[in-house]
Amino acid sequence: MADSMLIQPDVGFIKGVMCSGGEDLKKCYQCATCSVTCTLAPDDAPFPRQQMIRTQWGLKDQVLSDPAIWLCHNCGDCSTRCPRGARPGDVMGALRSQAIQHFAAPSFLGRLVATPKALPFLFLVPAAVFGGLALWGPKEITEPREFANVFPLHLLEPLFFAIAGLVMLAFGIGVVRFVKALRSAGARGSLVAGLVPSLVEIMTHKRFKDCGKERVRFWGHLLTLWGFAGLALMGTVVGIGTMVGMMHTPLALSNPWKIFANACALVVFIGGLILLADRVADPEKRKASTYFDWFFLLVLVSIVGTGIAAELLRLAQSVTAMYTIYFIHLVLIFALFLYAPYTKFAHLVYRTLAMAATRQRT
Ligand code: SF4
Ligand code: SF4
Repeated sequence: MADSMLIQPDVGFIKGVMCSGGEDLKKCYQCATCSVTCTLAPDDAPFPRQQMIRTQWGLKDQVLSDPAIWLCHNCGDCSTRCPRGARPGDVMGALRSQAIQHFAAPSFLGRLVATPKALPFLFLVPAAVFGGLALWGPKEITEPREFANVFPLHLLEPLFFAIAGLVMLAFGIGVVRFVKALRSAGARGSLVAGLVPSLVEIMTHKRFKDCGKERVRFWGHLLTLWGFAGLALMGTVVGIGTMVGMMHTPLALSNPWKIFANACALVVFIGGLILLADRVADPEKRKASTYFDWFFLLVLVSIVGTGIAAELLRLAQSVTAMYTIYFIHLVLIFALFLYAPYTKFAHLVYRTLAMAATRQRT
């Protein structure tokens, strides 16, 4: 007699997946067309058919500890081919957003960031912080006017370094939880050994290239990733440089770091606009895009847009406008970083680990 298995479905999990973009989940009748279609699925562990049935059954722990959900790059080919309209690509995206909430620390922040109704609150917090900072800061006004007249660097820098510390702590806890889950799902060997090749693969977007039809998204992602990495490097160098007195902001336009930062900002802006245009122009992708997708992308593009606008207004010495736009810019940066472990930004961390785990399996 065959072994029997008692299944305890997590109904809340099924509802969560359906509310985060996988609403057609239950239409799946397991024909496996999707797994045959997916060019990224390995022969020995094809997806997403298996993830569809496990999600239908509410096997939350099994599904969220499955590295396969991070190997999907959301090209949508399987959704297009699915004869039942179950949209498996969207379900995989919903599973990733559920996984981010599941491993998030603190978990209430993960749920809050995933809730559209909480959006005003998420921005009110940084608005209050920077509003208070502007009121509290020195009122010594120099000519030409600089952002530091209203938002002093000696207050901004410790604030952002503190945020960076909190974010690293939150990511650290999330990583520990995820690695435990991967281990319980059978991941063996050292994940560290797989990290470097996985990061190289992510930075070169090799898998995106394998998804032949996604050339536009490939370039959008690649430009955004590299531009963002450059800006993060530049922000760290200038932040530390000014703290130890080796650099003085604002940097001159001819300063090599300033040129580098402006080039990176432009690259992120172009990449982000490509991704936005790709989602808006294609009715299928528009339909498949969730709040979770829009949040990160719109915040990122808005940060760069307000950064460029604030800089131009500073050069033009348009005082009210430059401080207003800079205030919005700071609020957006705060939101991007503080909420990073709970938004699509977290893909970078979990995807890298999942790819490392998969490499150790092969
Ligand atoms: S998601 Fe669609 S293509 Fe995939 S197994 Fe289910 S019905 Fe078939
Ligand atoms: S969306 Fe694309 S990458 Fe993801 S499972 Fe479907 S075919 Fe594969």
